[in-house]
Amino acid sequence: MVTVLGEAKKKEKLKDHYRLGQVLGKGAFGVVYEATCLDDNRQYACKSISKAKLVTREDVEDIQREVEVLNLISDHENIAELIDSYEDPQHVHLILELCRGGELFDRIIEQGTFTERKAADHFRTMVLVVDHMHQLGVMHRDIKPENFLLTDKTQDAMLKLCDFGLSAYWKPGMRLSTIVGSCYYVAPEVLRRDYGVEADMWSLGVMLYILLSGLPPFWGDDESQIFKSVLKAELDFVTPPWPKISAAAKDCVRQLLTVQAQSRPSASELLQHPWLRSQGVAADKPLDSVVLQRMRKLSATNKLKKAALVVMAKSLNPDEINGLQQLFRNIDADNSGTITIDELRTALTSCNGKMSEEDERDLAGVMAAADLDGDGTLNYDEFIAATANLSKLEREANILSAFKQFDTDHSGALSKSEVMAALTSMGSTEQEIEELFDQYDVDHSGEIDYPEFLAMMRAENEELQQASRHLRRKSLLHY
Ligand code: ATP
Ligand code: MG
Repeated sequence: MVTVLGEAKKKEKLKDHYRLGQVLGKGAFGVVYEATCLDDNRQYACKSISKAKLVTREDVEDIQREVEVLNLISDHENIAELIDSYEDPQHVHLILELCRGGELFDRIIEQGTFTERKAADHFRTMVLVVDHMHQLGVMHRDIKPENFLLTDKTQDAMLKLCDFGLSAYWKPGMRLSTIVGSCYYVAPEVLRRDYGVEADMWSLGVMLYILLSGLPPFWGDDESQIFKSVLKAELDFVTPPWPKISAAAKDCVRQLLTVQAQSRPSASELLQHPWLRSQGVAADKPLDSVVLQRMRKLSATNKLKKAALVVMAKSLNPDEINGLQQLFRNIDADNSGTITIDELRTALTSCNGKMSEEDERDLAGVMAAADLDGDGTLNYDEFIAATANLSKLEREANILSAFKQFDTDHSGALSKSEVMAALTSMGSTEQEIEELFDQYDVDHSGEIDYPEFLAMMRAENEELQQASRHLRRKSLLHY
């Protein structure tokens, strides 16, 4: 039998960690179950893919890419997060955040009424997710209503994009030719087998047209009729309810359903459209690029934590870093194995359009924060450490393995000389190490023990650090 996720994933058994419940849905390759985690009784979705159905090499690669892509992008609040994955001889199991609210469109139909404002709110979320993916160099290729699920049945349910089985890596200038997607949503240039990331924007346009009117913009009795209609791309704004729909909303649809792919707005540009913007709360805040955003988090981090992140990034599974590896290659334009500040700027501008002033101002600082050895460029390890999904990195097992690696005499605590040794390549001064101990050696034992190390790794910012210090002091008082 083929190995899909790698040998490491085969060591642990799904049934030792999860109990499967009712079937939630079925897809091309497998079944999605409700799953209960045996440790904490929390509920998840388990997508079990039958290996027997993975016939061709491409099928296997599709699943591998789905996992890679999920690991790359799923820390976004509107994406069903990949919690874990398992592999046994018959199946690949993906544990995902559970969406028990069903499909967005079913909800809309149930509610009966729907306003332009609500449509704009939902649509804005969809565009935000697509923007997030595009910024990380991934195109979805199957944007359609069925792939947007709600977390629960309440009014405040969150919308989550699911199913990344057809997604593809994409970088500026790249052209794809495989026809994929669903016929109502497919862009004309996809049918012509020459397309890029703009095809997702077309699909968003089709969804918006349906959200506003309940009708598909391009239709026919069979697939070939639908394709003909897509290629013609004539928009009907005459049939009700269109006459009652605002000009701004129509403009938004029209921009997205432009045949000339280059003339379509990008996701970040679309977020500035008046119809979308006027509805949103965070409307005028310029969007950060994800890479910068993740790297920014690193700026405030101390050197020991950064060194640990590098160690931890090395312990991630290949499927957890492949997407970032791809991203690294995309940014490293001259294939030198290192990223310069100019390469980073070029990559950011080509996927986001113009950089905001704030981004530009920040770039050097953020770059310096990620450049651990201070040589002015980012090597592969530095890049992965800076951009990996933090919630994945901060799994306890990863933190523990970094701690063990630094604790060379296996005493169970880090002495000053061990910390010094861990930080040699980063040119730390004794002064810095003193400050680090002042801050994190909470019980003043002269060493950083594992709970102290854990607190340091988990401390997000000043406030959190204060809180954990406070808590830790309190718990010490109890002993
Ligand atoms: P296809 O490629 O045919 O669309 P697939 O094999 O990729 O299918 P999914 O689309 O990911 O599978 O999932 C199939 C169905 O399972 C979905 O349509 C949905 O009803 C349900 N489902 C998927 N993910 C979740 C989730 N996280 N929570 C709840 N239900 C889910
Ligand atoms: Mg699906």
